[in-house]
Amino acid sequence: MPNYGTPPLVISHGSGSRVWDTQGHAYLDLIAGIAVSALGHAHPALVEAVCRQVGRLAHISNLYLHEPEVLLAERLLHLLGGDGRVFFANSGTEANEAALKLVRRHAGAGRPHVVAAWQSFHGRSMGSLALAGKPAIRDPFAPFGFDVRFVPYGDTEALARAVTPECAGVFLEPIQGEAGIVEPPPHYLRAARDRCDETGAVLVLDEVQSGIGRTGEWFHHLAVGVRPDVVTLAKGLGGGLPIAACVGFGTFGSVFAKGDHGSTFGANPVACAAALAVLEVIERDDLLANARTVGGVLRDGIARTDHPLLRGVRGRGLWLGIVLAGPYGARVEEAARQAGFLINAVQPDVVRLSPPLVLTVEEARAFLDALPGILTTALDAEVR
Ligand SMILES: *Cc1c(COP(=O)(O)O)cnc(C)c1O
Repeated sequence: MPNYGTPPLVISHGSGSRVWDTQGHAYLDLIAGIAVSALGHAHPALVEAVCRQVGRLAHISNLYLHEPEVLLAERLLHLLGGDGRVFFANSGTEANEAALKLVRRHAGAGRPHVVAAWQSFHGRSMGSLALAGKPAIRDPFAPFGFDVRFVPYGDTEALARAVTPECAGVFLEPIQGEAGIVEPPPHYLRAARDRCDETGAVLVLDEVQSGIGRTGEWFHHLAVGVRPDVVTLAKGLGGGLPIAACVGFGTFGSVFAKGDHGSTFGANPVACAAALAVLEVIERDDLLANARTVGGVLRDGIARTDHPLLRGVRGRGLWLGIVLAGPYGARVEEAARQAGFLINAVQPDVVRLSPPLVLTVEEARAFLDALPGILTTALDAEVR
């Protein structure tokens, strides 16, 4: 279907932070399948874990337990530092659907609305899409059957006004991804936590893109010291295998009763084995430190690049938004591709870098060396 337009490349294979197209051209992959391929491509630990698991048991459904799902749930709760329970799904939008149903189930009838932020993105299925603070992707599919109130992201007072005792829950990205790597003011998430405590609304943090080491920390909410009631995870978790999690802390882990929710493929053994390998390699190879170091090199290098197309750079770890002087994103993306770098125009005037967490300083430098030429090519390109 034409929903993705026509992608510009056919990718054949990858290794580390590199991919090759079917013509044999190599690219440095600074997108990693939209912040997904945390270990890069064809990482031996991921290949081994997936091959071993598919050779033992590929699927069993939720009618039975298997060991990888139990180990993964325990591992996630340990990393999250909380006591709670995990529901496994297959994609970010499904993790948020689970969170939405959890919020509904917890709230009962007296709390008719939920709150979300302008410019937010939580996925494309009808529940998550109802939370999207982007009219262009949301409005063609309205109505959604429940009341979502939108607030400007980062505005503490607007949040306090919207989160009333009639509010069932608040959905926020701790740093907005699709909006262009937008971080709220320092005390925003704390204020959201406090307002939810005052009113009894459930605080859901969507760490689908920001989580699992992307920012140089396991989870951004831990870095800022704010504990949500529910957190959702996906993208980087499986290193390329489809897996997602909706984690409820404390009593929020036990809101669903038997029969309230389910997924045939959720907690798929192969996807769980992949996620366990991802978490193990991130820890073993200290990829959080690597994300901070190499991310710092990239960020500083971009900040020091003097070019009329550059407005600035923002983000944390290996998750950066290069802000352009106008709507040149698509042209910069194309010029980068022609120079052998995959980057993504996440907004008309913002280019996103979300490379594998294994990216090296040398690879980062190669991009920085090429960046002025890429920008000049984009500036000179004829408007199509
Ligand atoms: C990508 C993303 C989603 C949706 O994930 P899918 O796997 O595409 O359904 C949800 N929330 C955030 C913050 C995302 O970045």
